Amino acid sequence: MKQELISALTELLPPGRVIVDGPEVDRLSKDFFWYSPVLEKLLKDKSAEVAVRPSSREEISTVISFACLNQIPMSVRGAGTGNYGQCIPLKGGILLDLGGMDRSIQITTQGTAICEPGVRLVAIEEAARAAGWELRCYPSTYVKASVGGFLAGGSGGIGSITYGALRDNETVRSITIMTMEASPREVKLTGNDLFKSLHAWGTTGIIVEVEIALGPKKDWAQIAVSFDDWDSCFTYCETMARDESFSKRLVTCFEWPIPSYFTPLLKWVSPGKALAFFEVADSELERFKGTVEKSGGSISLSVPYAPGRRRVQLSDYTWNHTTLWALKFDPSLTYLQLGFLPDKVRDQFKALKAKFGDEIIWHVEFVKSAGVVTPGSLPVVRFTNEARLQEMIDFCATIEVGVANPHINYLQGSGRWRPDDAKVTAKREFDPNGLLNPGKMLGLQSEAEMVAKKD
Ligand code: FAD
Repeated sequence: MKQELISALTELLPPGRVIVDGPEVDRLSKDFFWYSPVLEKLLKDKSAEVAVRPSSREEISTVISFACLNQIPMSVRGAGTGNYGQCIPLKGGILLDLGGMDRSIQITTQGTAICEPGVRLVAIEEAARAAGWELRCYPSTYVKASVGGFLAGGSGGIGSITYGALRDNETVRSITIMTMEASPREVKLTGNDLFKSLHAWGTTGIIVEVEIALGPKKDWAQIAVSFDDWDSCFTYCETMARDESFSKRLVTCFEWPIPSYFTPLLKWVSPGKALAFFEVADSELERFKGTVEKSGGSISLSVPYAPGRRRVQLSDYTWNHTTLWALKFDPSLTYLQLGFLPDKVRDQFKALKAKFGDEIIWHVEFVKSAGVVTPGSLPVVRFTNEARLQEMIDFCATIEVGVANPHINYLQGSGRWRPDDAKVTAKREFDPNGLLNPGKMLGLQSEAEMVAKKD
């Protein structure tokens, strides 16, 4: 079967497109799923049979058509930086690597970027800045991650304190998908229809072009500030996050000992203290420093931002990069993704600490969600066993803390499932044979049907 698959694809596509080398196919079939000890066990042996790296829409269409006619499952990979096993094929088949679809970036005069799906986010940031614009929000993986993968698998990141998540503020203007049908169609999704494809883990169509809105370019300063304790650090960050007089891209805070995991930054870390990272407009830096002084914080680093890794990049330690540094330091650590209520957050912190003590260590990212500044958290969590992790997740529900569970490998449980069933409808419409990333959307049932079944 595998050999037949390889021969057929090799015949259909130009030379060099089909990857058959076992270890390479296995590497391309994986993302950062090992962040989760639960997913590590579940997914480590999953792999595609063959990988294909197309370099045009015509080639993508050829592969889709072949897969549909032969009922072969297919999973899409951008850059493989997802961290829930999103792109890992559960049923073998073809891995469609879109890393080669990275040539076209068009920055429009209206302040949008129109791109092929495999374009890396850092390349969009650089092209946008050269034209007087910048990305509105991007993941901390922007040096590697593709725009198609971000829209299909990510949620937000640096910039979300001003522009919200990807789903907010019409940041995503259009997504053009190719349907998983024997005669593939191209469908341009806009408005509410975007949710058919946004954060759908590549289960409802293959993104072949995106248009995203940009923000006006700013010169940014990156600043690290130490505080004697977590409470004063969090309070300063909360105040700064809410202060509309400052332009911001990043407001992040860490409870000790998380700063001790950032080995390349240790000369700017004060032992035993809480640490906060900010990106504020360079023109507001002196005023920002004044507010830090009044709050009792101490600035240990202040450097300008430049895209890529040409100088210190504080965002390399934020969002889910924090977890990466924690895991490097101690592989028995893991994480959760929690949403706190702005007016109850301190009580929620207290309740979790009272029950789980040092098993949970705070890492907070402030975002503006539907216009409201909200503390989101990716706490570092000590992993003992699955039951204890589940106990923590269940306890969160009892105190109104939202959980986007990163230890689950299907869409409905991952926290960003919309009850309007847009994705189920899209699955039926665009992938009628259920061949795209099978197993990641629980059947073709609607959420209402699943709830009814559970009851
Ligand atoms: P992949 O991992 O390759 O794919 C992600 C999902 O999208 C998969 O389901 C895949 O099948 C699907 N997909 C990819 N391309 C297409 C396409 N063209 N059409 C249809 N489906 C497609 N996420 C955030 O939102 N914010 C963060 O700050 C953040 N920080 C991270 C830090 C680290 C260290 C790590 C490991 C992950 C982080 N993530 C974050 C998760 C991840 O990096 C982002 O979601 C990233 O944008 C994924 O891009 P990618 O190109 O690597 O996608």
